[in-house]
Amino acid sequence: MSTAGRPVHRIIYSSKVSQPALGKLETALPGILQVAQARNRAVGVTGILLTCNGHFVQCLEGPIRPVLETLGRIKADPRHQEFHLIEAGPAKARCFGDWGMCGVPLSPVDSEIVMFLEAGGQFDPTRLGPERAMQLLTSVAEMQRKRQPTLG
Ligand code: FAD
Repeated sequence: MSTAGRPVHRIIYSSKVSQPALGKLETALPGILQVAQARNRAVGVTGILLTCNGHFVQCLEGPIRPVLETLGRIKADPRHQEFHLIEAGPAKARCFGDWGMCGVPLSPVDSEIVMFLEAGGQFDPTRLGPERAMQLLTSVAEMQRKRQPTLG
């Protein structure tokens, strides 16, 4: 769907992988991404989804209506809990427009995340403000563009 010229709405949130999904995340993530990529592309939503230490951090960008509808479905998903809104509002432009949804499982060996892990001891995305969350997501996206430029 072409959404060129339409105002961009951005939402960033974090959540925790729910207990039943915790042990199955490695196998569940490709399924989540497959659905996310197909559905998001169809409605002009793009973004990035990180997993790290049992947390999700996700950014959704696109026209306000499909972004909010997508978020509504995501919030109801039993595979995660403790939804925490980090940012919601208009954005000048998309930052993750290359992907319907880029999925990145992070580990502490990823250098871009180390400073975030070390800063607070344990990675806790609820303590990231909007600016640091965007800094984290854009640096991981940059890392991903170098690794797999056509993913998602
Ligand atoms: P249906 O497929 O009809 O499923 C019905 C219910 O079951 C929903 O509540 C659904 O969440 C839940 N469900 C579906 N599959 C499973 C499963 N394997 N295990 C347990 N419960 C399940 N979707 C997008 O379209 N775009 C996104 O960007 C996106 N990001 C996501 C990020 C995270 C962290 C998670 C956990 C999910 C994400 N999803 C995303 C998936 C989303 O939550 C919905 O499952 C999906 O959009 C299908 O919605 P539906 O209403 O058609 O549900």
